[in-house]
Amino acid sequence: MREQSKKLSQLRTQAETQLAHVSENACSPRPAEELLHKLQVYEVELEVQSEALRQAQVELEESYDRYVNLYDFAPVGYLTLTSEGLITEINLTGAALLGVQRKELLLHRFAHFVAKEYNNSWHLFLGNFLQNDEQQSCELLLKRSNDQNFHAHLDCLHINAGNGGYSVRIAFTDISEHKQAEEALRIAAIAFESMEGIMVTDANGIIQRVNNAFTRLTGYSEEEAMEQTPALLNSGRHDSDFFQDMWATLNKQKHWRGKIWNKRKNGKIAADWLTITAVTAPDGNITHYVGTFSDITSNPEASAEIHRLAYYDLLTQLPNRRMLLDRLKQALATSSRSKHYGALLFLDLDNFKNLNDTRGHYVGDLLLVEIAHRLNVSVREDDTVARLGGDEFVVMLENLSDNMQEAAIQAGLISEKIRKAVAMSYLVQGLELWTTVSIGVSLFYGHEASIDELLKHSDFAMYHAKQEGRNNIRFFDPEMQATLVERSSLESDLRHALGRQQLRLYYQIQVDNERRAIGAEALLRWVHPERGLILPEHFIPLAEKTGLIVPIGLWVLQTACAQLRDWADNPATSNLQLALNASALELRQPDFVEQVQQAISVTGINPALLKIELTESLLVDNLSDTVTKMNALKAFGISFSMDDFGTAYSSLAYLKQLPLDQLKIDQSFIRDLGDNSSNAALVQSIILMGRTFGLDVIAEGVEEEAQLSFLNLNGCHAYQGYLFSRPLPLAEFEQVIKRV
Ligand code: C2E
Ligand code: MG
Ligand code: MG
Repeated sequence: MREQSKKLSQLRTQAETQLAHVSENACSPRPAEELLHKLQVYEVELEVQSEALRQAQVELEESYDRYVNLYDFAPVGYLTLTSEGLITEINLTGAALLGVQRKELLLHRFAHFVAKEYNNSWHLFLGNFLQNDEQQSCELLLKRSNDQNFHAHLDCLHINAGNGGYSVRIAFTDISEHKQAEEALRIAAIAFESMEGIMVTDANGIIQRVNNAFTRLTGYSEEEAMEQTPALLNSGRHDSDFFQDMWATLNKQKHWRGKIWNKRKNGKIAADWLTITAVTAPDGNITHYVGTFSDITSNPEASAEIHRLAYYDLLTQLPNRRMLLDRLKQALATSSRSKHYGALLFLDLDNFKNLNDTRGHYVGDLLLVEIAHRLNVSVREDDTVARLGGDEFVVMLENLSDNMQEAAIQAGLISEKIRKAVAMSYLVQGLELWTTVSIGVSLFYGHEASIDELLKHSDFAMYHAKQEGRNNIRFFDPEMQATLVERSSLESDLRHALGRQQLRLYYQIQVDNERRAIGAEALLRWVHPERGLILPEHFIPLAEKTGLIVPIGLWVLQTACAQLRDWADNPATSNLQLALNASALELRQPDFVEQVQQAISVTGINPALLKIELTESLLVDNLSDTVTKMNALKAFGISFSMDDFGTAYSSLAYLKQLPLDQLKIDQSFIRDLGDNSSNAALVQSIILMGRTFGLDVIAEGVEEEAQLSFLNLNGCHAYQGYLFSRPLPLAEFEQVIKRV
């Protein structure tokens, strides 16, 4: 700027001299004009530049104001101290925090505002800070002018004071609230670890935190409880109404309190006094639930109830299995002393499942209560009537004759009385109902047989009573004894059959109307080292009863898939569809669908070539689970056939619900096709039903040409039976395939 005005005044002098010269010498005016022009240009330039300068100055002032504003009104207090601790500068926030006008603070000692109990630590801190050339922070209790203390957090920085010494720049904030929150948290943490069990769940009931008392009371560690729901503790002692009420109260009142039966990790049932509180966000939405509980099991009222729950059946109030076992133990000891016989009667209702399904569980329950009552009045007071669960009851008779024959007659008479009492009609909810019972009886005398054996004996006798037409009484006899022994040795062998590779799959061809092979059924055989080839009817029921059917079924599935894989390479077998049989228990496995999918993907076979045969017994319970699983597998490409169709209690209702592909007419209808016109009509209607529902129909057990032509004539298109081939080991089956 100075430069420019200098230049301008130079130009001006130059111009003036030249103009003077011009007036002296009028004949050469040009250089003077040029100079004047230059002068004007410079003047304009100068004006522009000084405008820019003014602008820059305004901006500088504005930014200074902004800085001052920022400095003064920052949410943080700023102050500068001399190395002696005198305040030389402080922003408005800082002054407000200290509760003093800014001007009164200047050159005041900062230590004056430090609470007495912190004075020492402030001096120590400052001394240390001045010696070490780095940023440091500390927390102090500061005094406000009105003597109200507050917790402050200080960040300190050295700044050069210019004369070789330094000053200290401090930023400080009021952290009282934070401190209070911290303290509240510390208190809460101590309270959380109280004597009472506490669990905190999120709004969906997923456990987020538990305390040590929770672990001590329930046995579950924090890791085990996390991400679970409180159902982890479910004892099964409360019905769904109980929980529905609890939730209704919680949602309405945000609070629930009451006694609850919980199950500990070790299986023990305990009474807890539980308080649940819903935690809500400011918008009113529930964010968490806090459950606090203490164990009140040792309270006398609760322990009486625990005893009742542990030893009695909730529905009928009869002794349960546990109580029965206790009493049976005592009864054997008494019999051994008194030399009197006793008897164990195993009762199973004959049509209860059906009744439950058709009339509903509520009616079923009421009926069980009434039956319990009738059993109780049919026996003497000293005898025990227990309910084992479902529709199974046990009656234990004590102190019968000391003579076996007489004791058997006594037990027979009481059994007959019970059988008749149960068979009389019932009036439940205005409905007249009937049911009958099958009874198995075994006598006991001292410790001749163990409790376990006794129960098995009467159970087995009951099973025979059922087989002989139900509504029946059967005594356990030596022949049954022999079968039982045989069965238990078979059972222990079966446990090893899979591991010792004694199981085989046989294949039975399935054909179309032209007798061309369309597929096969895989049928299980057990090659027993001593007993030879055992057919499924002799070991599948046992495998089902013991649960061994699950690993066995998995082996069948994997073997069948591996077989399909092998057949895929050969044009003669590559189109064969292979059917395998799956038991209800297998299908009820939660991972059944995954097992099948895995077997298929491991072998890489075409899922359309795999068919699963189900039996109607599967549909008795949990139809919807079956449907879900079938749908999942169907979506994968697998097909389903209903095996032994027509033998069980089938209904059109479930047929419509199941995603089936095929009905398999049971062989019993085919066998008597010729001489029994009612079977012929039945087969015709099954074929028709299949057509109506868009299902394939296959007939099994076709042994004769006459049967084949009858079926053919009536619209059946697929067959399986000895007429074409028996089930065969793989090599022989493949020979048969070559021939057809
Ligand atoms: P199923 O599934 O109804 O099998 C048909 C049964 O009929 C087979 O008996 C077969 O050998 C027999 N059969 C076939 N054609 C004829 C014929 O023309 N006349 C006569 N009289 N019988 C014929 P098998 O192999 O003894 O199997 C009996 C049952 O065992 C099967 O009945 C099935 O329910 C079950 N089973 C077989 N293998 C398995 C398996 O791998 N898993 C499961 N869960 N059950 C299986
Ligand atoms: Mg089958
Ligand atoms: Mg069948």
